Amino acid sequence: MKEKCGVIGAYSFEDIDISKILVRGLESLQHRGQESWGIAVFGYGAFKKLGLVLEDPEDYYNIDKMRGNVGIGHVRYSTKGGTTIENAHPIEIGKSFFISHNGTIANFDELLNKVSKENTILSSVTDTELIGIRLKQLYNRNKDWHTSFKILSRELSGSYSLVMLTEKGELLAARDERGFRPLCIGYQEDTKTYLIVSESCALDSIGANLVRDVKPGELVKIDKNGLSTFMFCDNENHSHCPFEYTYFAHPSSYLEGINVYLARSRIGAELAKKYQLEGDVIIPVPDSARPAARGFSVESKIPFEEGLMKDRYRKRGSLRSFIEPIQKRREEIVKKISAVRAVVNGKNVIVVDDSIVRGTSSLVIADILRKAGAKKISFVITFPPIRYPCYAGIDFPTQEELIAYRFCKDKDDLNYINEMIAFALNVDFVGYNDIEGLSKAIGFPPGEFCFSCVTGDYSCLKCTPKFKSREEMKG
Ligand code: SF4
Repeated sequence: MKEKCGVIGAYSFEDIDISKILVRGLESLQHRGQESWGIAVFGYGAFKKLGLVLEDPEDYYNIDKMRGNVGIGHVRYSTKGGTTIENAHPIEIGKSFFISHNGTIANFDELLNKVSKENTILSSVTDTELIGIRLKQLYNRNKDWHTSFKILSRELSGSYSLVMLTEKGELLAARDERGFRPLCIGYQEDTKTYLIVSESCALDSIGANLVRDVKPGELVKIDKNGLSTFMFCDNENHSHCPFEYTYFAHPSSYLEGINVYLARSRIGAELAKKYQLEGDVIIPVPDSARPAARGFSVESKIPFEEGLMKDRYRKRGSLRSFIEPIQKRREEIVKKISAVRAVVNGKNVIVVDDSIVRGTSSLVIADILRKAGAKKISFVITFPPIRYPCYAGIDFPTQEELIAYRFCKDKDDLNYINEMIAFALNVDFVGYNDIEGLSKAIGFPPGEFCFSCVTGDYSCLKCTPKFKSREEMKG
């Protein structure tokens, strides 16, 4: 029941056609979802496609026809429901509004029961539809979005950064009170256009300026009167997702005022202090670990080289393996990585990677390096050991699939975990980051982050999630 995606909303006060701006923004958010995409424009409706944004030349023609000054868009990476056009966003909720969502409902069954009691006929719904249907019920009763979100935030556990396009031509955006997933506001001066985007990298591509992050618990409304904001929930404890900083977000983006590239570089430098390794060369696993590997190299004074190359010219070679929904395809993408023999042959190689989830990619990479002649292989990992599933929007489906859980169960000793995972991957050394080191390098105290997938403590979600199997999660 997870939608780890990218969202965008745009409202122009110059009455320019917004569809091309939406699509340009979505192209910059492609790293957040590669399964399907779509936009909805006021007065026109929605256009949705499977695959990458504008992959099909026909798409340009269709987008060109969508004329209107306000709209929303989405790129999708699913785990609930298959990769079908029906599940693509934006989703229309009973002719009242379109909604696009990034996040997960952790208490899906509970909310479904509540919604069903109010006579709505529900067949199979995704979490985004469920949020939409509940919001429609609440809005019909209260005639006010602020109150509706206030009630929803009490009923819903989980994460949501969402945008909505209403039947009156209003653009709404809301972020859950913990701020798990990012969401920010931008403004493009030339076209007098407000933008709401998952990440600021989308603003750069549109030529808009970052105004600020949407605050956790904030509802933003943009209509012909301008931009207004309401707090529907105040919560002093935030639970920003550190995985956004280490893997998910684009390096050029700013999240909560912190640049992702520089945060990754600091994480690498901190890891070099923590693990004072001897090595001939530092190499990143492309692409997200590159800034951390550079940071590690500068701090340790061990040379940085590109020892692993993604083949961008073959089909699927440029995609991101982690967000592929099918394991076989994930492995296919990792196998499109090749080693540069001239860099690693006969060397003591330190590999920097952003995370180890199932361990399959790391096994393939270790094998590729060994075959290219690496003498000694050490892995340094920027995210701490993941031993519990995520119920706030990232696809770590079940404990049984997580290598750190399979080999270490609930043993917390990091040295023990490092040794066990080095054994499991058949490499010379593994050094994971820890919660304190990661938080310090990003620049917030640990209490500002969610670390449920590391600790198994789900109190930030206000519920105890059931550990469902991957098949159950996919539906
Ligand atoms: S459980 Fe892990 S991946 Fe999910 S939001 Fe929390 S820190 Fe991020």
